Amino acid sequence: RDSGAADKATYDWSSEEEEPDGSARPIQVLVVKDDHTFELDEAALSRILLAEEVQNREVVAISVAGAFRKGKSFLMDFMLRYMYSQASEEWLGEAEEPLTGFSWRGGSERETTGIQIWSEVFLVDKPDGRKVPNDLLSLFGCVPNGTLFSTPCLIPNVYNISQNVQEDDLQHLQLFTEYGRLAMEETFLKPFQSMIFLVRDWSFPYEFGYGQEGGMKFLEKRLKISENQHEELQNVRKHIHSCFTNISCFLMPHPGLKVATNPNFDGRLKEIDREFINNLQVLVPWLLSPRNLDVKEINGSNITCRGLLEYFKAYIKIYQG
Ligand code: GDP
Repeated sequence: RDSGAADKATYDWSSEEEEPDGSARPIQVLVVKDDHTFELDEAALSRILLAEEVQNREVVAISVAGAFRKGKSFLMDFMLRYMYSQASEEWLGEAEEPLTGFSWRGGSERETTGIQIWSEVFLVDKPDGRKVPNDLLSLFGCVPNGTLFSTPCLIPNVYNISQNVQEDDLQHLQLFTEYGRLAMEETFLKPFQSMIFLVRDWSFPYEFGYGQEGGMKFLEKRLKISENQHEELQNVRKHIHSCFTNISCFLMPHPGLKVATNPNFDGRLKEIDREFINNLQVLVPWLLSPRNLDVKEINGSNITCRGLLEYFKAYIKIYQG
């Protein structure tokens, strides 16, 4: 497990967060309680972000936001596989290998709401000519089950939605960008650089094909502002355009009935529809390609893990009012 070549991800163990058996795991750093108050586990977050080898490094954070039970954790686990395999050709794994990592599972009950972060930080090399001298860190944050209304989102850059981009999806996005703006005023962090709309269970491939190209065309149409739209619809769109420097969209096919309905499904590839896997093979390397990862910025300069911790704290303060 030595460090890979440029464009490959390498990683370090952050020993304090290991399970007794040595494996990394998701750490719940923010809990949303039943009365809608929040509790930030600052100690746990600090252990990850202030670890000696990472605290002063520039940070890339991947976080997937969206309503609960829409396959976020399932996707995160494939992203973890990709990172652990160091972007190897065979990253997808064996046909019968169960999927592990974030606890994804079926059922309609929601689990604890909040934010989970993978305990292990990955070091990735930027291959480009950008003035980013250091390795980058990649953190997997996950808003596992909350809706955007009830859960603070840590700079989400993937917005996971089901079937279509509806008007209330756009409104939710607007709402949390408002919080982002407030946090930005406190920390000078520019919270939103890229945003990827990830549409799951897309069922109109004959109108817009799966993948990024179809997604872009679809989203362009959805986000288009026209004079005969209601003013509110126009405003949501203007707001979203003004928040992000880069907006894209990826249309994912349905993974098949075993994934969606079989309670004994354990994530093995063998039981996932081929079309889904094919698209996963495009999606994950695209999401995690070092050249696509935004280094978070404060006041025009790149933010470190330490800075991210400050942002987190400021963000929570706003939510707590
Ligand atoms: P999360 O709450 O958003 O993190 O959702 P999970 O990843 O825990 O997944 C919830 C359920 O949806 C599980 O039963 C998964 O097997 C299933 N699932 C995962 N991906 C998809 C998908 O793309 N479409 C559908 N319909 N189900 C999915």
